[in-house]
Amino acid sequence: MKLRKVTAASAAVLALAVAATACGSSDNKDSGSSSSGGGGGKIKIGIKYDQPGLGLKKPDGSFSGFDVDVATYVAGKLGYKPSQIEWIETKSADRENALARGDVKFIAATYSITDERKQKVDFAGPYLLAHQDLLVKKDSDISKGTDLNGKKLCSVTGSTSAQNVHDTIAPKAQLKQYSGYSECIAALQNGAVDAVTTDDSILAGFAAQDKYKGQFKLAGLKLSNENYGIGVKKGDTATVNKINAALTAMVSDKSWQKAVVADFGPAGYKNEPAPKIGVIVK
Ligand code: GLU
Repeated sequence: MKLRKVTAASAAVLALAVAATACGSSDNKDSGSSSSGGGGGKIKIGIKYDQPGLGLKKPDGSFSGFDVDVATYVAGKLGYKPSQIEWIETKSADRENALARGDVKFIAATYSITDERKQKVDFAGPYLLAHQDLLVKKDSDISKGTDLNGKKLCSVTGSTSAQNVHDTIAPKAQLKQYSGYSECIAALQNGAVDAVTTDDSILAGFAAQDKYKGQFKLAGLKLSNENYGIGVKKGDTATVNKINAALTAMVSDKSWQKAVVADFGPAGYKNEPAPKIGVIVK
């Protein structure tokens, strides 16, 4: 390559441009998988990295949680072994764009199916029904949504949780929006916010972490219905159909139930029964 002739500064610019292309338009052709149906190729799957019990990157670099188990099962049915999966972090606000760009083949990241999101992406599922709730300090007297008006509340940019606060739950709360829930939990612990709101499945996982044990409580409110779907690129009906078949098999061969026990059991999270494919609880 002619690279040696260019200055260090322009080489850096060139490297950036190459990197941007690599995670952008050039991936559009394969939409997150380097060969359809497995073989020796890789599949890129979007998950959360900071949500214990759902999608967590552990210190040793491995991944755990219900979304990870569901995604691994689905990838298996699409013809990919666990060793062929490349996990990509897809934060709440990045999910639609990651699919549109083709950064990932699909997303399993506590991703609620909504009419608004369906304008931009397609969904398989649902595969779990969760509910929006509040996490507060053990001695807090916040116990219902309206108690939040005037209080400092944390949620995540691009989530239904933040949207619902504005729309219905507590329009007068001082809502701080971070890019991930782990940042909200740290803010709750150090007193920067009075409460954190998102799905009960997520909050239960944080509350049960060793470093937070005994410090927080869930309000136990079902403030919304969050139907978790697997997001795919808009128009990729073939993949939606394959994923729906995989999710149906995961429930009928009991793998779904096994994953629920393994991933939610430690936090004591009482999940809803397996949803029916295509049935959204409003
Ligand atoms: N399930 C909700 C959503 O899709 C909240 C959790 C999240 O931000 O991933 O927005």
